Amino acid sequence: MEQPLAIKEQETLAPSFLASGAIFTGILCPTVYRCPNCRAVYKVILGPGDVFLGEGHRTCSKCHQVFRDRSKEWGMIPPMDRVFFLFPMVVWGWMLVALIVCVLLSWLDWTLGATAVLVPIAIFFAAPLIAWFVFRGYQIVRSVRRFNLGGKTKVA
Ligand SMILES: [Zn+2]
Repeated sequence: MEQPLAIKEQETLAPSFLASGAIFTGILCPTVYRCPNCRAVYKVILGPGDVFLGEGHRTCSKCHQVFRDRSKEWGMIPPMDRVFFLFPMVVWGWMLVALIVCVLLSWLDWTLGATAVLVPIAIFFAAPLIAWFVFRGYQIVRSVRRFNLGGKTKVA
């Protein structure tokens, strides 16, 4: 009955950058998840995050072993994990870069007028963020629906 737990590996692409801060560490150190039976990689994420929405188990596409993939449904994860789910390190890094670029440009381009420069830059940085939150929102809605359906099946 007890399924084996997926293997989680922290890859370090740039160890020399480790000292330069948590945000860069998050971007440069992807986490790799493997099937505990045949070690096939089934998920690679940027950063050290460990929060996924799902039913909690997965069948390996290679060896057909069923294992626990460390995922939980939205209704079961603690509030702190929900924050990390919506705002992982990569998103913090992106927002930080956007802020720095906006501040730099508003200092450099006095003659062009701040709005003329900042609007296209803001669109460039905001578009991926909007896409990200739409994607995450869709995942949460699906998770809540799955969780509610699962609960009903168990009761019935
Ligand atoms: Zn496998």
